[in-house]
Amino acid sequence: MAQSGLVERALAITPTQLFIGGQWRPAESGRTFPVMNPATEEKLADVANGGSEDALAALDAASQAQLMWAETSPRTRSEILRRAFDLLIGHKDEIATLITAEMGKPMADALSEVNYGAEFLRWFAEEAVRISGRTTVAPEGILQIFTAQRPVGPSLLITPWNFPLAMATRKVGPALAAGCTAILKPASLTPLTSLAFVRILEEAGVPAGVVNIVTSSSASSISAPLLADPRLRKLSFTGSTEVGQTLLQQSAQNVLRTSMELGGCAPFIVFDDADIDQAVRSAVIAKTRSNGEACNAANTFYVQRGVAEEFTAGFAKAFAGLQVGEGLTPGVDLGPLVSSGQRQDVARMVDEAADLGAERRTGGVVPDGVGFFYPPTVLGDVPEGTPILTQEIFGPVAPVTVFDDEDEVVRRANSTPFGLAGYLHTSDMSRVMRLAARLEVGMLSVNTGPISNAAAPFGGMKLSGMGREGGTEGISEYLECQYIGLPR
Ligand code: NAP
Repeated sequence: MAQSGLVERALAITPTQLFIGGQWRPAESGRTFPVMNPATEEKLADVANGGSEDALAALDAASQAQLMWAETSPRTRSEILRRAFDLLIGHKDEIATLITAEMGKPMADALSEVNYGAEFLRWFAEEAVRISGRTTVAPEGILQIFTAQRPVGPSLLITPWNFPLAMATRKVGPALAAGCTAILKPASLTPLTSLAFVRILEEAGVPAGVVNIVTSSSASSISAPLLADPRLRKLSFTGSTEVGQTLLQQSAQNVLRTSMELGGCAPFIVFDDADIDQAVRSAVIAKTRSNGEACNAANTFYVQRGVAEEFTAGFAKAFAGLQVGEGLTPGVDLGPLVSSGQRQDVARMVDEAADLGAERRTGGVVPDGVGFFYPPTVLGDVPEGTPILTQEIFGPVAPVTVFDDEDEVVRRANSTPFGLAGYLHTSDMSRVMRLAARLEVGMLSVNTGPISNAAAPFGGMKLSGMGREGGTEGISEYLECQYIGLPR
């Protein structure tokens, strides 16, 4: 099938309207906004441009459905999620095509996002039937203590553009499993994948009002009225730290339960005793997944002096061999960045680093032509203090900097306000445990690449956020503990 045929087939199963109370309908204002392909700079579709009246209609629907959904048996909730998993896998080619078309990552990467994203539905289908409380007797012996887990209530789920499917399933899966209704607000750059996902939830049998989606080019006109309405009980947000901080302040007015998955600046640390070939292979994956636009992407490469040249040369050679192009073209390793603004930010950081003494070992120059492409770039010998070492890059750019000992690398790796992921390469297992205790990161990958998994708790420390998604921890973000006391 021709590439445009693939996209057409995917668009044919993708709604472009809002889904509120079980109905697909246009925005109250009748307005739409365009969704673009960052590789071709062409329009893919126009989608409904929701406003505050649509947001409140979605909250009406979610509030009305809340009690019914909370009282739906865990088995029924579980089976609906499991059906959604099967349907998503059944449509994996169309969904991956949408991800590639609107976000830019290569098709193979998009397919792995579909598999990863779908796993949250299967995992939380399994968790839905394992929600339990505990019982005990108070120390004085006169009181029996029971705890139960209740759904928090209607939840606003705001997602970013870099994983248009997986960030939605990672929130909708546990919300529905716990018995919460949801309003999904996807990123305006990538709403199509989420719309197709909600269509799949509808087909899987999610009752009217339980999941609603409001697309909009004005995010705050959706979030502000919802956060001000006491019927909303939960906000789960994935995105930048700056926006997360604003939303946390707005969530204070109704004392909402909040989960925040925010920015990252992951250190990738290579010691002299590491397997350098393995470290280079891991570095390539940890830097190129999702075109480098991943919150847990390796950001800054700290390499011990004795292996710095060997690692940097191997990394630059591997990066120079990557194929850059439109993500739907077979064999492409790296697609375009998501927008022209994103590319400008990346190019500015690289130019600044070069001015401050970093060496462009490969890449580092914006190409001519259509699409927001940026070449895979390795910067060698980046001096301590260069801003790119402590800023979230969000592109296929790897600054390498040299360190001498453990104390130095821990100090430097912890010197950012972020604390999401870290990567460690060493053959010394006692060092692994020592560093795990000292590195301020929510997730540590040892001698491998990215470790995201539906069965593992994903989340960060410091300005990278609070709360965990996935694992047995993920569902508790949508549950409230209730204590019932009875005389003994
Ligand atoms: P962003 O600008 O913060 O946007 C994220 C979401 O928030 C989008 O849906 C966006 O809508 C919405 N938004 C923007 N401004 C808002 C406002 N004032 N009020 C309410 N909502 C608002 O982040 P991004 O550029 O899309 O995503 C990249 C960031 O996400 C990076 O920092 C990355 O590290 C982080 N991220 C973190 C994780 C994690 O798990 N920790 C995972 C993925 C990404 P619009 O699209 O309409 O602006």
